[in-house]
Amino acid sequence: MPDRVVRSAAPDPVVPDSSAPPQPIVDALRNLGKDPSGIRLALRSDLSPDGTFGEQWLVLDDADLWVWERSNGSAQLRYNYSLDAIRDAKVERCVGNGLIQVAVDEEPRVLMHFSNELIDQFGRVAFYLHERAEEGPDTPVPDPDADAHRCRVCRQPLLDRSIKVCPRCIQRGRLMRRLLGLARPYRGRMVAIVALLLAGVLVDLLPPYLTRVLIDDVLRGDPPRHMLVTLVGGLLVIQIVRVGITLLTNWQTINLSTRFTSSLRDALFAHLKRLPIDYFDKNQIGRLMTRINQDTGELQGLISQMTTFALNILLVVGIGAVLFSMAPSLGLYVLIPTPLVLAAAFFYYRYMRPHFERFWIARWRLNATLNTFLSGVRVVKAFAQEEQEQDRYHRRNHQMLASRLQVDLAWSRFFPLVSFAFNAGGLIIWYAGGSAVLDDRITLGTLMAFLSYLGMFYGPMSNLTHISQTLNQFLTISQRMFEMLDEEPQTDQANPVRVPQVKGHITFENVTFGYDPYFPVIRDLNLDIKPGEMIGVVGPSGAGKTTLVNLICRFYDTTRGTIRIDGVDIRELSMEEIRRQIGMVLQTPFLFQGTLAENIAYGKPDATREEIIRAAKAANAHDFITRLPEGYDTIVGEGGTGLSGGERQRISIARAILHDPRILILDEATSSVDTETERQIQEALETLVKGRTTIAIAHRLSTLYNADRIVVLNHGRLEEEGPPRELLDNKGAFYNLVQLQTQLARIDGVAAL
Ligand code: ADP
Repeated sequence: MPDRVVRSAAPDPVVPDSSAPPQPIVDALRNLGKDPSGIRLALRSDLSPDGTFGEQWLVLDDADLWVWERSNGSAQLRYNYSLDAIRDAKVERCVGNGLIQVAVDEEPRVLMHFSNELIDQFGRVAFYLHERAEEGPDTPVPDPDADAHRCRVCRQPLLDRSIKVCPRCIQRGRLMRRLLGLARPYRGRMVAIVALLLAGVLVDLLPPYLTRVLIDDVLRGDPPRHMLVTLVGGLLVIQIVRVGITLLTNWQTINLSTRFTSSLRDALFAHLKRLPIDYFDKNQIGRLMTRINQDTGELQGLISQMTTFALNILLVVGIGAVLFSMAPSLGLYVLIPTPLVLAAAFFYYRYMRPHFERFWIARWRLNATLNTFLSGVRVVKAFAQEEQEQDRYHRRNHQMLASRLQVDLAWSRFFPLVSFAFNAGGLIIWYAGGSAVLDDRITLGTLMAFLSYLGMFYGPMSNLTHISQTLNQFLTISQRMFEMLDEEPQTDQANPVRVPQVKGHITFENVTFGYDPYFPVIRDLNLDIKPGEMIGVVGPSGAGKTTLVNLICRFYDTTRGTIRIDGVDIRELSMEEIRRQIGMVLQTPFLFQGTLAENIAYGKPDATREEIIRAAKAANAHDFITRLPEGYDTIVGEGGTGLSGGERQRISIARAILHDPRILILDEATSSVDTETERQIQEALETLVKGRTTIAIAHRLSTLYNADRIVVLNHGRLEEEGPPRELLDNKGAFYNLVQLQTQLARIDGVAAL
């Protein structure tokens, strides 16, 4: 991560402009007659020109680029080029480090080396220089640090990569208002809970008062004996009423917290499914699962705790008022330990907060590790990485253990001190109250009642000392959830164009796309695919083949250029409509939990059994399905447990046949099966592709010989296109790929002998 990134033209108002390249460089620029406030970008490399650890800076203003080496407190200029002279730029990954190279007047020049972890940052600068050479000086200057995990508000590094705002910068008031807004449907219940809490407090206040009457008027006076029975009976009734109120409060609270969190989970899932694919690229599945399942569960527990806090606040206020009204002079003594305890709680909280944060993060990471392991257990086993996963889990578990110990031990030290303060406060009352009784200023009954109230007062008071900790946790979790709800969903434009019956004419016009806009993986692509045409897309791994089909499905939007289906820009079509017209058969077909029939009918849930069987027959799947004991009603697991790769593939072909799309995408559909299975799949595919626009990515190039046209991609560019025969005769890129594959197959064959 670079130390300093400076952008003078900052579009994002939260990026502070105070950072700057080191002073020696600023001074040196001044000596060259440059105004340092004109610096638009400064990026630090962690290697010196001789490849050892050191410091070099790449600095840009509107017109120039400089490379400075910084050593022993001075700055040495290594290169200076006019930006207008730079024709191109790129970064290259070498062994152990990377380099940035520019073409100045057609001459390649290496500017500097840097360690590989800085490659993204320098990549963005290189892309900017490349774009500027083509588009001119108005090209926006990137933020090389855009990916780094920093708090959106204070820009400090974030410990927890799952959030965007650090706990210190959370806007509590706003968050609470949003939470209350979400809880609006439960207003009635909330009012009921508050009413029950108030009633509970009032009932709690009665027994000590009756104790006073019991001591002063019944035990010491000379009333009829039945008064004693009445009072004790009264106390019993109060206890029963109290139990009733507690039961009702618990019932309402549990109902509120459970229903609220359940509706929150629904809302999160509803939002999640509308998020664009790149959100899922950036967030690990385990993390998302933790957030939806565990965070909501924790929120539920916290809501119950909040009710307890509310009860305690009411008790403290109610009892405080009674204490003062009963014996104002004693009331003041009650308050003596209170400021001490509050101050202690405040300092404790200040001291503990970082520990708590560390603990929450450790716990959350532990869960995410487990979730990720469970989601990827097959990969873990396939690569025999159990030990590594065990190590990872152990490390996370240990981190959680350490942070938990820190929190609990600190609490165990703090709590006895608080108890001591309160108990000492009680002794003061015994002394002052006892004196008042001896001097006949108050009755014994009043003192006893006072002491009972006191016992009830300090309990809730000490409980309130950790309200801030719980509240903080509550707000952090809520913040995380709102961040997810605030993620921009992929939406259609206001009035999407309707195309009732798509013909399947796809055009790419100057399409450039990068998952990171500064690293294009498809470049200036122009392609016209006629309705019903079958296109084979080939190219080395990483050439952008899958990306091409992702763009057709509008899983991502192009960075530049337009893709049209039947002449309409796909951004103007409704996404649902596009995807209804597209069918996919992927390399690793995904089967959902359910029966085979349900899986085949996934894209058309109302399909009849006859339709399902017809599709399965066309996909060469009927025979193997009927051989299974449960036939079409066989339950398959999430990953299609119990079926071979080829069988799963044919189920997914049947699914596509039933879905009946105008546009079909076959992504390496036959790559991992034996020859016999491949033949069966090929046959099934031939049925499927008839009359549809088909884009097929194939590992075995021979499977594409019957395509109408082959498109060869290389580094995201269209290298060659034409009918397969013609391309083979031309002996160009496709021919070379086929040759390479044939040679490899021959070597494999020899190795197998
Ligand atoms: P191909 O299908 O030809 O093997 P891809 O289209 O999958 O190539 O990938 C093209 C480039 O895009 C590769 O460099 C790959 O690392 C990158 N890439 C693919 N998917 C993603 C993604 N979801 N996020 C970031 N980069 C990606």
